[in-house]
Amino acid sequence: MSVRRIIRMGHPNLRKPAQPVTPDAIGSPELARLVADMVDTLHDYSGIGLAAPQIDEPLRLAIVEIPGGPSRYGDIETLPLTTFINPVVTVLNEEVAGYWEGCLSVPGLRGFVERPQHVRIDYTNEEGAAAELELQGFWATVFQHEFDHLDGKLYVDR
Ligand code: ZN
Repeated sequence: MSVRRIIRMGHPNLRKPAQPVTPDAIGSPELARLVADMVDTLHDYSGIGLAAPQIDEPLRLAIVEIPGGPSRYGDIETLPLTTFINPVVTVLNEEVAGYWEGCLSVPGLRGFVERPQHVRIDYTNEEGAAAELELQGFWATVFQHEFDHLDGKLYVDR
């Protein structure tokens, strides 16, 4: 396993829509190795989320791990490290709220971004099973930020 370099705003590959992970790749040693590298990288950079395109891997794959507890975003619920393959976001309530967002690909900056605060995520887990997660508040913001990377979008666009 290894810590990978995170590409930064200005790198053209951050702006390209990522490709779906194919069914036969799920459960493969290659994908497991990529996820392990993403986990090492996320921890090395002390982040809460990382999308594969941020390490220059053009796949619809992201990991999120929210330590929880008091933070600059208020008191946050813990989310254990989870891998999301081919995630799709459905907005359940259009009402927005804003947070100051940061991004490992845009070091040293924060931006106030408003996003819907109630969404559902449909995704495939590492075992290849369909799964879903309903999210509100800060969590909804984090996931929309991460999954934007899969479409070549950065928070600075919003
Ligand atoms: Zn980001």
